[in-house]
Amino acid sequence: MISPVKIPGNRTFLEQIAVFRQQGYMRIQVDGHLLSIEEAIDYDYEPKDPERSFLVIERILTQDDEESYQKLADSIEIAFQEGQGRCLLENIQTKEQIHFSERFEKDGIVFHLPDLYFFTFNNPYGACPLCEGYGKIMEIDENLVIPDKNLSVYEDAVAC
Ligand SMILES: [Zn+2]
Repeated sequence: MISPVKIPGNRTFLEQIAVFRQQGYMRIQVDGHLLSIEEAIDYDYEPKDPERSFLVIERILTQDDEESYQKLADSIEIAFQEGQGRCLLENIQTKEQIHFSERFEKDGIVFHLPDLYFFTFNNPYGACPLCEGYGKIMEIDENLVIPDKNLSVYEDAVAC
């Protein structure tokens, strides 16, 4: 169970993994290698591809019993927290990764979580953006303002 490493703007990669170490994490996966955080800090490791750096939440041997499932569920919860809504499950042997996201997004688009207001025409969330839920659009009809387009302004073209 691994989470993408999120580095707040005011921290460096090494500062961030030092925080992970304080939180009790042992390993990271950077540039396709599994490293102990201790080692990475000792060697001042800078990832070549920061987008592909992951925090190892837990290495799990899956077994078909209640205890394993509970452990897995706990890891998934932590992984989602650390990855801000994203985590990955990697098969240690095959290196195959499966991505998970609990964010309401797809293809780079973040969607609004659907709720009751979405289906209410008299709420700003659900209202038609054009008429704002009134069913009619208030606008000026230029044919009513200037009924006779042959007249000039001085000839009272504008019908108030
Ligand atoms: Zn409308």
